[in-house]
Amino acid sequence: MMQLKIYNTLTEKKEIFQPIDESNIKMYVCGPTVYARAHLGNARSVVVYDVLYRILQKIFPKVTYLRNITDVDDKIIKAAQNENTTTTQIATRYANFFHEDMEYLNCLSPSFEPKATNYINDMIDLIKKLIEKKKAYIKNDSVYFDVSEFAEYGKLSKRNVKEQINSVRIAKNDEKEDAEDFVLWKVEKNETDAIFESPWGRGRPGWHIECSAMIFANFGDTFDIHGGGSDLKFPHHENEIAQVCGAYPDAHYAKYWVHNGFLTVEGQKMSKSLQNFITVSDIREKNLDGEIVRYAMLRTHYTQPFDWSEDSILNAKRDLKKLCDTLILFPELQNDENLNDLNLYDKFFENLLDDMNTSSALMSLQTLANQIHIENDKKIQYELASKIYNSLKFIGIDLFALIKKYLSAIDENLISQLIEERKIAKNKKDFKKADEIRNKLIDLGIEIKDLKDGSVSWFQTIRFS
Ligand SMILES: [Zn+2]
Repeated sequence: MMQLKIYNTLTEKKEIFQPIDESNIKMYVCGPTVYARAHLGNARSVVVYDVLYRILQKIFPKVTYLRNITDVDDKIIKAAQNENTTTTQIATRYANFFHEDMEYLNCLSPSFEPKATNYINDMIDLIKKLIEKKKAYIKNDSVYFDVSEFAEYGKLSKRNVKEQINSVRIAKNDEKEDAEDFVLWKVEKNETDAIFESPWGRGRPGWHIECSAMIFANFGDTFDIHGGGSDLKFPHHENEIAQVCGAYPDAHYAKYWVHNGFLTVEGQKMSKSLQNFITVSDIREKNLDGEIVRYAMLRTHYTQPFDWSEDSILNAKRDLKKLCDTLILFPELQNDENLNDLNLYDKFFENLLDDMNTSSALMSLQTLANQIHIENDKKIQYELASKIYNSLKFIGIDLFALIKKYLSAIDENLISQLIEERKIAKNKKDFKKADEIRNKLIDLGIEIKDLKDGSVSWFQTIRFS
């Protein structure tokens, strides 16, 4: 029996994943607020949960993966005003861009993508319930969640909010009772196109209630996995729990909370003010392959910070080149109809099952490539090569797609001629010329090997531009 272990933020332990209902695994991941292009931090999160989705799909017969689209938000309204257009237009445009960007990274589409604006009534119902349970109050026409009324507040992020309120003595402001209270519904006095009727007046929901309502409507009060970036742990995820469990005291909400680490750029926090803010569209414009970006991200364990840098790209390219160059030796693999039936590399999958250790899993494929080069049995070599291909395909990286793109057409006559010229140069002890010819061959994507009997074998390799 394949057992997945996953680090649960709630218990602060790596646990064996035990589904609530094995016949349908339910996973929710916070999706984008669609007012701008996705940045690399957003992309990392999507790639991480895409791998988790693939692993779950391999173990269980059915996985329902929900990732929402936040299409109502102050930032969307602002973007619409700046461009003199509607919020719907902004939201649709950036949701489409988001899909394109994630497709470029070979991420699978989730089972369903709920849009916040389709769940306004569910949000209103949840807020009504919270008011009824005295977990929320109305002040200045807006509705706030009363953090002091929810005993478990802080259980995910391990923050003792009450202690903080007492010790720091956060000044009460006119808007709400306590600084930690958060808005559930805000009344809007200005006319915008993102305005909805509610029992508390025309306005719009707070961001946190959106996820809670979409989850509650689709999954009920208990489900398996909730994922997101670690920056969402507090207050967003803490508030999601408070809203559903505050309204329904018997609710468990997510059984496993999974959080991925931060993304830095050349060792620094990514921010607009540091001018190191990188979007997926920026790297697409540089013609960097989605496979390389994906591989670079997965070389780091998902809980660790991932540093986007010149080095991380070079390392990914070096690893991928080695794997591609190995597969080139087995061109018949591409036409093997049984390829997809062949298994993944055991060590690779075992690492994935161990808290999604993609870093060790990818390392095991490098070792496997070395093994192929020292193996003499053609059949075993072929089988190992197929495992490299299948394992990477499984996590969304198609090596043959890269090979196809980067393997240039060769002129065998020219190669034979160059090899002959090099032989003559070597016989004349003109090693400078021999090296020049070797470099010329490398430029053509050809590497050569001098054999013991004096002959020369050559093989084709790929070169990333
Ligand atoms: Zn969320």
